[in-house]
Amino acid sequence: MNRRDFIHQSTLAGLGVITTSSMINLNAETEPLKRMPALFIGHGSPMNAIEQNVFHQEWQRLGRELPRPKAILCVSAHWMTPGTKVTAMEIPKTIYDFYGFPQALYDAKYPAPGAPQLADQTAAMVKSTTVARDLEWGLDHGTWSVLLPMFPMADIPVYQLSLDMNAPPAKHYEIGKELSALRNQGVLIIGSGNMVHNLGRTQWTDTAYDWAREFDERCKMHIESGDVQPLVDYPKMGSIASLSIPTAEHYLPLLYILGMKEEQEPLCWFNEQVTMGSISMRSLILGCGNTGLNVLDE
Ligand code: ZN
Repeated sequence: MNRRDFIHQSTLAGLGVITTSSMINLNAETEPLKRMPALFIGHGSPMNAIEQNVFHQEWQRLGRELPRPKAILCVSAHWMTPGTKVTAMEIPKTIYDFYGFPQALYDAKYPAPGAPQLADQTAAMVKSTTVARDLEWGLDHGTWSVLLPMFPMADIPVYQLSLDMNAPPAKHYEIGKELSALRNQGVLIIGSGNMVHNLGRTQWTDTAYDWAREFDERCKMHIESGDVQPLVDYPKMGSIASLSIPTAEHYLPLLYILGMKEEQEPLCWFNEQVTMGSISMRSLILGCGNTGLNVLDE
């Protein structure tokens, strides 16, 4: 299979946007890294951490083909706090913040080291609010469920930034902008959530609700067009937004990643599916074309 075979749909002229069905054919063995990509990952069920399904396999592939980061900063849907916090411990613990799953999931561990110095530096970069050091949290499943397949050796330092439960959407977007420079220092920033996440409406089929598919498509359209303000102001999008985002925590990590997008920066999609009726797994790579991940090359 050649590189072009991976490309499922069209390239949007001028925007450097690639749409793929499986993962794009990334190539980590080319140019020295200039600026790390940033990712928004739809994480879905915690079982994706250990189940050999398509999502898990795409995360594995991503880990093999991304440039190796110096550290990983994750903004997870599963850490909401009053004010913004950053984990600053030497050894973050694996947190099992879910209930009723098979024992194998509780047996999984992600013993990556922390990144206390980077945590301090990250806190100092944010001017729009005070970022408090945290020594209590660790790695919740929004973080480790995707990192376990991506970087199974757990040998890259990982730290987390919390979501301020009292901040409006625009504030999350702003903090993302302020953290953008970390990408120039070899830090892989991951927003981990789901663009559509309505657990109350899930069903055991792969048929998506119309509103879920429509909101998912609107996200894609606004991100590709470069006009993300409607996504920051998502409550104005009406019922498709209120059904897709009944609570904001899985959506807000996306705004951090959108905040750190440069103009004309190439982006790629993967795991573009709405599952269980109301969970979008749509995932995004920012900077897939300027770091050695250039899928436009023959
Ligand atoms: Zn979740």
